[in-house]
Formats: sequence, structure tokens, C-alpha cells
Amino acid sequence: MSEEKVYDLIIVGGGPAGLSAAIYASRAKLDTLVLEKNFVGGQMANTDIIENYPGFPDGVSGSDLVSRMEEQAEKFGAEIDFADIEGLEVDGGVKRLKTSEGDYLSRALIIATGTEQRKLGVKGEAEFTGRGVSYCAVCDGAFYTGKIIAVVGGGNSAVEEAVYLTNFASKVYLIHRRDSLRAERLLQERLFANEKIEVIWNSIVTEIKGDKFVEAVSIKNLLTGEVKDVAVSGVFVYVGVVPNSQVFKGVLELDEWGYIKTNEEMETSIDGIFAAGDVRASVLKQVITAAAEGAIAATFAEKYVREQVYFDQNISSGRKVVVVYSSITDEGREIVKCMSELEASNVIAIDGYKNSRISRKLGVEKFPAVRIFDNGKEVYSNDGISVHEIVNLLKERGII
Ligand code: NAP
Repeated sequence: MSEEKVYDLIIVGGGPAGLSAAIYASRAKLDTLVLEKNFVGGQMANTDIIENYPGFPDGVSGSDLVSRMEEQAEKFGAEIDFADIEGLEVDGGVKRLKTSEGDYLSRALIIATGTEQRKLGVKGEAEFTGRGVSYCAVCDGAFYTGKIIAVVGGGNSAVEEAVYLTNFASKVYLIHRRDSLRAERLLQERLFANEKIEVIWNSIVTEIKGDKFVEAVSIKNLLTGEVKDVAVSGVFVYVGVVPNSQVFKGVLELDEWGYIKTNEEMETSIDGIFAAGDVRASVLKQVITAAAEGAIAATFAEKYVREQVYFDQNISSGRKVVVVYSSITDEGREIVKCMSELEASNVIAIDGYKNSRISRKLGVEKFPAVRIFDNGKEVYSNDGISVHEIVNLLKERGII
């Protein structure tokens, strides 16, 4: 990696949001890099069967869908690299990602870092992770063939994975802290119909015990206060997720739970930085919504990059005058006519009605507007200026 290379777009995270953004961006000919921390696919890669992604009536395995998305992104020219993000600095138009592998630079950034599973935070959990405690049924389920295991949680993940784990385990306890499940009805029906599953209601895990490997969980009944040990060889934890946004805290605006806030165009609080997928504050977290958000983010990132390039190429050197007009007004049409008659090469006329991002970037509040730049630095600004006044201004300043 060259330190000085500036990508058009870097996408942080290679899950469905990141890969979909990569497909859209590279197909739009942006020089695109996907930076992934561990493995491409995110949580989707660890999902046995995805039943609600359109176009796959018999379901599709998460890893299969990942491979197809990855292949599609690379086919259009996206690069995929591996690095752990340690920080983000924004210096004007260029975004600098500090990573375990050095600095990466880009004009636009899409953050699609997803979520990671919440920990129980009980004694024995960290100690036995990888030795009986797991957060991935697809990865580790087969190790528990013929054994008794516990799944903790009451949401879609816990219920779906408890059912999946009965393919291997002889018995699965589902331990849930309330007396009803949060999971959707269809999943609940499958759970209750499965004879290998026993739900332990109103209970929490207080400790995970064992010697070298997990041997039991201590469970406290929240109604009676009774604590008992249940012998299990494995504990699968599915108690919700936390957004992978820590590294952006203090730079980007987050909501109270740490999800990144965006508008409908997936723009974050910083110009040129977008967010998509599970890490974004949103109402539905599914593969399909992640993919859709990635597509939206890439589309608006492309607009942003094109505009940046345009500004860099046209405004960064010498003295340049930008006249922003609205093509749907008579005055706007008069400006177009007048500017073409003037034939001044250092005057750029922009239709602010069609290019609302540029108007916003220039802080235009009323058309027509004029901005004068000296080597990229704004030295004059006037909004709601008439055609007559614009011509006088250009004459006074010796521009025409
Ligand atoms: P979730 O929906 O937030 O459910 C978390 C579950 O863990 C809840 O039942 C919660 O209990 C319980 N819990 C939370 N903290 C706990 C603690 N400290 N101790 C014990 N239990 C605790 O999370 P999820 O199931 O991981 O799903 C995450 C997102 O992915 C959701 O939006 C979900 O819909 C989506 N998802 C969708 C599918 C699908 O569509 N097939 C599959 C998987 C995931 P309470 O109910 O009492 O709050």
C-alpha cells in the first residue's frame, strides 16, 4: 500500500452493506477499496440459511451469498484488503483512516462496520471463550454433536440458532430472562415444536463453570431467586448486539446506543462520510436492508466524489468565479445566456437546482449566488444577486 494513494472511496466493513456499496461504487468506476478486519461477509457469513432474502425461495446459505457478493464487487474492480481501523482524521476533502496496517486515504468513506455480539459479562465467560463459550453456532455447532448445550437469549438469533443447534446437540436449553420471547412468531413455532429444546424461563446465567472446558452454567430464577447448576458442555450467547462504532466516537454523531446517525442519503454528520447497514441508526437490521443502504450510500458517495474532483480540478488554482443559478427561473435562464455570451473561461456557471449538493457545499441560501475563489480559497460571497449586479461585479474585479 502506498501511503500517498488517495482512493475515491474506502468502504470500512465487508458485510452485505459494504459489499453492496462496493458493487455500486466500482460499477460507477470509482476507485474503491473495501477494508475488512477479519473475514469478508460479517455476520451474514456465519448464518446457516437466510430465508428472507428475495430471489432464493429455498433459502441461501450466508457464506454462499457472501461469495457471490464478493465476486460481483471484484468483477467490477473493487479491491478488498484487511486492516483493523484504529482512528479517523478528516482533513478537508481527504479522509485518513489510521489502521493496524498504516494509513489509508480516500475522498469519501462508507462505514459499514456492522455490530458485534453483546457479551453476558458473567464470571467464566471470557475464560471459557473458545473452550465451550461461543457466539457462532454455524462455526462451532458441530463440536457439540451428541452433547447437551445451552443458548442464552430470547430474540431472533437465540431462537434461530437454538433450533439450528439441534442438528448436532442431543439437548438444547434456551435460557431466557423473561416469560415470553422477543423472536418472531414463525421462529417461535419452530422452537416450540422441537422436542430437543427445553426453555428455561425467567432465568439468567450467573456463572459459567468448568475445569479446562465448560461443564455447567449457574442459573438464577428471577422470580424465586433460586440458583442452580445445569450440566452443559457448551454455552451459545445470543443476547443482542452492539454497534462497531467505538472508533468513530467523538468524530461522527452517534445515537444514545452508539449507532451512527445519518440522513436518508446515508450521510453522517461529516461531509463525504456515509454509513450503511447494522452500524447505522435504523429501524430494521436485515441483509436486505443492509444491501439497500449500501447501494444508497455508494450512489451518494459517487456524487460527492465527482463534485470533489470537479472542485479540485476547476477551483483549486487561480482566480475562479462560481455563479450558482436555478434553471427553473427566468433569471436563471438569463444567467445561462449571459454567461455563454461573456465566454469568460474563469467563470463557472452551475445549476444549483439540479446540483443541490454543490449549492449546499457552497452554502448558497438564495439563487442566483456568486462565490469567488483565489487558489481554492473563498474570497467573496453574495446570495440573491441580480444578473446586472453579477456583470458589474465581474467588470469591477477585472474578470471580464
Ligand atoms: P435482540 O433482538 O436484541 O434480542 C436480544 C435478546 O437477548 C432479547 O431476548 C433480550 O431479552 C436478551 N438479552 C439482552 N441482554 C441480556 C442479558 N444481559 N442477559 C440475558 N438476556 C439478555 O438481538 P438478536 O436476536 O441478536 O438480533 C439482533 C438483530 O438482528 C435484531 O434486529 C434481529 O431482528 C435481527 N435478526 C434477524 C433474523 C431474522 O430475520 N431471521 C435473525 C437473527 C437476527 P429481552 O427480550 O428481555 O429484552
